[in-house]
Formats: sequence, C-alpha cells, structure tokens
Amino acid sequence: MTNDRTRNNTTDYDPMLDLTATGERIDINLLNTAAQRKLQPSRRFNLNMILKILLVFNCVLLAIALLVHANPQWAAATTPASDTPTDVAVNPLPAELTDINSLTFFVDPSHSVPTDYIPADLETPYVSSTGEVIQVRAAVAEDLKAMINAANEAGAPLILTAGYVSFDTQEDYFSDRVAMVGEAEALKVTPKPGFSEHQTGLAVDFSDKDDGTATTTAFAESAAGKWLKEHAHEYGFIMRYPEGKEEITSYSYQPWHYRYVGKDVANAMYAVDPNLTFEEYFNTNK
Ligand SMILES: [Zn+2]
Repeated sequence: MTNDRTRNNTTDYDPMLDLTATGERIDINLLNTAAQRKLQPSRRFNLNMILKILLVFNCVLLAIALLVHANPQWAAATTPASDTPTDVAVNPLPAELTDINSLTFFVDPSHSVPTDYIPADLETPYVSSTGEVIQVRAAVAEDLKAMINAANEAGAPLILTAGYVSFDTQEDYFSDRVAMVGEAEALKVTPKPGFSEHQTGLAVDFSDKDDGTATTTAFAESAAGKWLKEHAHEYGFIMRYPEGKEEITSYSYQPWHYRYVGKDVANAMYAVDPNLTFEEYFNTNK
C-alpha cells in the first residue's frame, strides 16, 4: 500500500481528474469501463460524487490500516486475548501437578489439597515408626519399606514419624503451633490446614530416634539423615524443603520431611542437582 501511495504522489496520477478529462476511464477497480460508457452526464456526475466518497473512505481505511500496522498494541488492546479462563492463563500448571491422584500433585502455600480429600488407597507399611498407625498411599508403601530396610542395613536406622495427616489433624497441629510460637513463626514449618502435602499420603517425616522427641535440623547430621540425603531418590523420594531454598519452597529447611514423587522424577531431579526443589524442576513459579 505504501508503494501505491508513492507512485501516486510522484506521477500526479489522479483517477478523478482522469475521469473528468476523458469521461470514460476509471482506474480504481470499482467500475468497469464498459458500464461507464452507457451513463448519462448527470448520472456520471452522481457517479463521480460516489467515487469521490468511496475514495475518501478508502483513504481513511488505508490511514487506519497504516496506523494500526505501526502500533500493533492498538489491535491487541481491542482484541479479546482468547477464550481461555484468566486463572488458567496466569497459572497453567500441567495435569500431572493438579490431579490429586498424581504422584506429582503440587502442594504449596498457594495450592491446597481439597478439604475432604482422603486417599482411597491408604495403607500401613509396618516399618519402624513412632506412631501407632502411620499410613501412606499404596503407591508409596513398597518403596518406603525398601528404603527404610536399606537404611537399617547400612547402619543408619531410620524411624518413620508421620505419613498421611487428615485435614482435622492439621487443624489441631496448626492451632497448637500458633499458640506456641505465633502464626508467622508457625507458617515457616507448619502449613495452614488444607495446605499440607501430608494430606496427599505422599509425604513422610523421619527421625533417627524412636523416643518421640521432636525432630530438628540436627537430623541432617545423623547417620539416618545423611543416608537419606544420598539415597532417597533411588526409592522415589525427594527432600521437599532443602537448605538454602526457603524463598523458593516457602518453608524453612526440613531435613526430615520427604515427599514421594516416583523413581523416574526423583532420579531425574537428583541428576540435575541433589538440592533441586520440586518448584524448580516443574517450574511452578513461572
Ligand atoms: Zn512433614
């Protein structure tokens, strides 16, 4: 379109003058010449006016087209982005992270577990534990047992202290913690009810002691803590809240808290970096 305009300017070509001078030739692709020959002068005048209006209209359209072309944001601003709901467009997590039955279901302070969710396949792995009944999802049980047995055989006795935690129990934990240390401090370790991945049946806590004392970060220096850090991925587990990744995970360092994600994912993550977080591997903060 720009070339046409240049040519018109440089040759003084004007189809309106052309029409007046010859009464016949119209070169704007709007009329054919044979039809024009049959018109009377008065009708030709009317036609002349129509042509002028059309030409002005075309010029306006051309100007708008050129302006929009030079300012594509105008078109974007007036065109609906898509039919996709806004929340999906802003946070397009893949199904493997949003399906509650997936081994890589994603839980963080912004992504909760449905309040009434109870895994349908909970089982008790019957391993060394502090609780009377500690349950995990069936998909986790075999690898969990194998891991604990391997740690014991390696001289790093591993004690299971927690598995599945119901929504109601989370409420009790959280209110107890808040009463003890205040909400801000509690949130560094204890999720709000509904935001604990223990409710998925895929998270477990460990200790190196079976006397019921609270696990602390000192666990990382125990034989069990060191063995886990080095071998958990071989059994499909990842340390969910590593040291130095607090900004990414939203939780303080918890060397006792492991999350089952399956062997393929755990091995792939470990191959990238033994300290890689779930958030980094799945790019959940994009
Ligand atoms: Zn935990």
